[in-house]
Amino acid sequence: MEDKIYDLIILGGGPASMSAGVYAAQMKLDTLLIEKETFGGQIATTSLVTNYLGFPSISGEELSNQMHKHLETTPVHIVKEEVTKTELKNDIKKVYTHSNCYLAKAVIVGIGTQVRKLGVPDEQKYLRRGLSYTTLKDRDSFEGKVVAIVGGGNSAIEDAMYLAEKCKKVYIVHRRQEFRADAGVISDLHRTMEERGNIELTLDSKPHGIVGNEKVEGFEVEHIPTGNINTLTVDGIFVAIGRGADTDIIDEEIARDPSGYIITDTYMRTNLDMVYAVGDIRTTPLRQIATAVADGSIASVTAFNDIKNKK
Ligand code: NAP
Repeated sequence: MEDKIYDLIILGGGPASMSAGVYAAQMKLDTLLIEKETFGGQIATTSLVTNYLGFPSISGEELSNQMHKHLETTPVHIVKEEVTKTELKNDIKKVYTHSNCYLAKAVIVGIGTQVRKLGVPDEQKYLRRGLSYTTLKDRDSFEGKVVAIVGGGNSAIEDAMYLAEKCKKVYIVHRRQEFRADAGVISDLHRTMEERGNIELTLDSKPHGIVGNEKVEGFEVEHIPTGNINTLTVDGIFVAIGRGADTDIIDEEIARDPSGYIITDTYMRTNLDMVYAVGDIRTTPLRQIATAVADGSIASVTAFNDIKNKK
C-alpha cells in the first residue's frame, strides 16, 4: 500500500472523468486518475459525434484523443490499472487495483457503463469470431459480408447505416415494430435503405441463438408474436442494445437506484461523504458527452470546496 494520500482519486477515463481531472488540476488538487484500458470511454468506439458543441462532425476516437491530450497537459497523475475494490466510507478512501492500494481524501466515480450482452447460449465463445459489440473497430473485417445488428436505438440504426457502406447485406433485428432511435436518425435510415437497398428489417424479433462451429455462421431469431424461430445466414452479429451500470467494484454502501446507477445530488455528491459520481454511471436524465463533461467539472469544484471546508 502506498503511504501517499492524494487530495482526489478519479476512477475512469471517459469524458466525465477527464473533465474532472482538468478542473481538479486547475484548482491545484493533488489528483490521481485511474483508467483500466482506453481513454474516452464509450465515445472512443463511436463512429461519428455530431452534437458536441464546437465539433459539428468528429469521430469519437479523434474527440477522445483530443480530450486525453488536454488531460495530459495537466499535472494529474494517470495510471493504467484495473480497479478491483473500493472502501469509501472512512475519511481516508481506499482504492484497490490488482497491484496497488491508493489513498485519497475524496473520490470521484466515473466508471461509465458496460455493453449489454445478448444473453444467448455460448455468447462469449463467438466473441471476435463473428460476434462484436463495437461496430467502429470491427466493421472493416466484414467488408462484402452479410451481417445482423441487434437493437433499435440511435446506436443500432446509425451503426447499421455505417455497416451498409461496406457490407453486402445488413439485417436490423429489433424486438418491437417501432424504433427507439430519434426521428432524424430514422429518416436517415429510410433514405439509406432506398439508396443502397442492402438493409433489411427483422422486426418484432429477439435473439434466440448463434449457429456455427468455429465462428458465426447463422443467427437464430424468434418472431415474438408467433414464437417461430428464423435462422438468418450471416457472417457477423453486431450487438447495439445499450449499456447498463456495473458498480460491483464500488463500495456496497453507496446508494444506487433500482437499475444500479449511483444516486447523486446536483453537486454530484453521493450518500457517502467526499464521494462523487459523474457521467453515465450516475442517475441522470441524459447520458451525453456534454452532460458528462459538465458532471466532471461540477464534481471537481464540489470536491475542492468540500476539502477546503474540512480543513
Ligand atoms: P438505447 O437507446 O438504450 O437503445 C437500446 C436498444 O436496444 C433499444 O431499441 C432496446 O429495445 C434494445 N434492447 C435493449 N435490451 C435488449 C435486449 N435484451 N434484447 C434485444 N433488444 C434490446 O441504447 P443506444 O442506442 O446505445 O443509445 C444509448 C444513448 O446514447 C441514447 O441516449 C442515445 O440517444 C444516445 N446516442 C445518441 C447518438 C446520437 O445522438 N447521434 C448516437 C448513439 C447513441 P426497446 O426500444 O424495445 O427498449
